[in-house]
Amino acid sequence: MIRCHIGLGSNLADPAGQLRRALDGLARLPDSRLVGCSPLYGSTPVGPADQPDFINAVAALDTDLPPLTLLDALQGLEQAAGRERLRHWGERTLDLDLLLYGEQSIHHPRLTVPHPRMLERAFVLVPLADLAPTLTLPDGSTLASHRQQCDDAGVWYHEAAPDVGHDDISQL
Ligand code: ATP
Ligand code: CA
Ligand code: CA
Repeated sequence: MIRCHIGLGSNLADPAGQLRRALDGLARLPDSRLVGCSPLYGSTPVGPADQPDFINAVAALDTDLPPLTLLDALQGLEQAAGRERLRHWGERTLDLDLLLYGEQSIHHPRLTVPHPRMLERAFVLVPLADLAPTLTLPDGSTLASHRQQCDDAGVWYHEAAPDVGHDDISQL
């Protein structure tokens, strides 16, 4: 299995509830095992400022799904959450970004991994560093160094990590 990291975000229709439902969805993906989730963080929006604050987290998923199949599954969960495309970097019920797929670099018209903007985003780096503090990126740089350099002023602790990663969650 490949260890993947997925960024979760929501700023509409009970964002923390959206993230918990998304984690349930991730736990049910075929050929995959949800192994953990960071605490939930609040963040000020990147992009248009006239939208609600976000709730963000990062989940770790071990999977045998190929990258594009996993992307399809993530987009299926976004659709199931009623995601509508309103405006670029605007408000959304659920955003699931594939941040890392093991130590692979992927360049495909539908999928770039590592996620091309993750290293500039404190709302990604802060929860990712909580969950996987010793991670190394495909270019050999350490997550800890990126976390140290990022400006985390617009990100705050919201609530404890949802309880995931147990075998029984997929049986709920
Ligand atoms: P950003 O990518 O800057 O976080 P966004 O999440 O708002 O912005 P979306 O509208 O959710 O962008 O996605 C646009 C497209 O990005 C998707 O249709 C998908 O094909 C593509 N994409 C490329 N790389 C990735 C990735 N690593 N994870 C998720 N989607 C990706
Ligand atoms: Ca995104
Ligand atoms: Ca996205």
